[in-house]
Amino acid sequence: MNNNNHKVLFACSEISPLIKTGGLADVCASLPIALRKSDTDLKVALPGYKSVLEQFENTRFICMLDLPLGAVAVCCAQFENTDLLLICHPVFSNRAGNPYMSDDDRGWPDNPMRFALFSQAVTELAINPAYLDWAPDLVHCHDWQTGLVPALLALHNPRPATVFTIHNIAYQGNIMHNHYVELGLPAAIFHANGLEFWGQASYIKGGIAYADRVNTVSPRYAAEIQTDAFGNGLDGLLRSRRERVSGILNGIDTDEWDPATDTHLPANYSADDLSGKNKNKAALQKQMGLPQQPETPLFGVISRLAEQKGIDVIVDAVEQAETLEFQLIVLGSGETDLQNRLYNLQQKHPQHVAIKIGFDETLSRLIEAGSDVFIMPSRYEPCGLNQLYSLRYGTLPLVTDVGGLADTVINYDNNPDEANGFLIKEASPDSLTEGINRALQLYTDKPVWQQLQHNGMAAHFSWDISAGLYLQLYTSAIGDAAVANEQIRHAKLTG
Ligand code: ADP
Repeated sequence: MNNNNHKVLFACSEISPLIKTGGLADVCASLPIALRKSDTDLKVALPGYKSVLEQFENTRFICMLDLPLGAVAVCCAQFENTDLLLICHPVFSNRAGNPYMSDDDRGWPDNPMRFALFSQAVTELAINPAYLDWAPDLVHCHDWQTGLVPALLALHNPRPATVFTIHNIAYQGNIMHNHYVELGLPAAIFHANGLEFWGQASYIKGGIAYADRVNTVSPRYAAEIQTDAFGNGLDGLLRSRRERVSGILNGIDTDEWDPATDTHLPANYSADDLSGKNKNKAALQKQMGLPQQPETPLFGVISRLAEQKGIDVIVDAVEQAETLEFQLIVLGSGETDLQNRLYNLQQKHPQHVAIKIGFDETLSRLIEAGSDVFIMPSRYEPCGLNQLYSLRYGTLPLVTDVGGLADTVINYDNNPDEANGFLIKEASPDSLTEGINRALQLYTDKPVWQQLQHNGMAAHFSWDISAGLYLQLYTSAIGDAAVANEQIRHAKLTG
């Protein structure tokens, strides 16, 4: 990995295990650790959510910031040997639970204000070195919650470089224009080449339009979002910036996710000795109330219950099966309709289907370890982490041929030396049924099955390579920002 010694302010809305709703949290935890190994001088900014503050006995007060949307206190905590800058304000610290949604699955109505406030705080810390006695060369922003940062920074000269990473382009942070005006956000960035998006203001568009470099979390998804089918209305803008847009595959924290050492598991195992995997399967079947049959193929799912993830496709495929020759375990939380459909399926097939609604880290690891196959029939998938965890845990992924799934799963097609799972053409019940049947057929061929398990467990999805690619991206962005700063300075002088 290059040793570039960049100073980087990392701005994100979740970090595992402090606060997590999905893969964003895993990436924002593990990428900084990998970057620090290359001596990147990194600080991480995170909203000071109630549940996060409760996890630290000591935080150090750094400064107050008097921002257009209100005053915030910046407190520093140590997390994984990194300065974690907690942006504290009652809109974060007075509210328990999910960072974006209430218990009835609706977004908090003040989210536009909350994440504009967070973005203003990040911008202020990035521009004014006096607060931290530190001046970042670059601010790395993640998803719509921080999309305003590159736009707000563009109003300053000189400014640090910006990288904006899209983890999911479907979540955009769009607000009505009158709401934008009420929040007092700058008119100078509300125009067709800025935040304006079909008359609304789009936070994610701020990141895409203004960042020096834009990337997403797999090469395939980077290409897909530049098409009408996957771009969610932003494909034209992305195409117009294609020289600045790239894809870098997410890594996983291979220490944190290791079946040989995972303390959540009843039995540890490795590629050399997979016997512990069977014990996890038995424990999982028992915990979920299914018959403990070692020879029955067990299909696992861990997912947000959202249209993206094709949970309806799983239900449809199981409903249309004449007989069930496998067991299915689903852990998930999200849309009520999907929860109900899953419960109905469980009621209809109590010997074969077991559902757990909720967010449960320990059970999720047991599902990764105890299942034979992990199903992920996503309609789109920016990167996907669960298929990577599955590969590492010797569980063959059965996934749609999209996004990061296509970049990481090698389909079995009489190629036992390379394959590590099963790809299906599309997120439809027929495609999934066809994939399930292929998996069931191969399950009877134990030597080939084990070869695929070994192929997956030997694959390298650690952050080493991807963190190196991020360092290269940072260097490019810093070069771009230097040019932009100089152009603006020159224009002012001559203007
Ligand atoms: P996304 O970020 O789109 O939800 P990813 O596959 O990238 O999907 O990451 C999902 C992460 O969240 C994984 O670490 C997965 O194990 C975890 N996860 C999702 N739902 C649950 C749940 N109900 N309980 C525990 N972990 C979950």
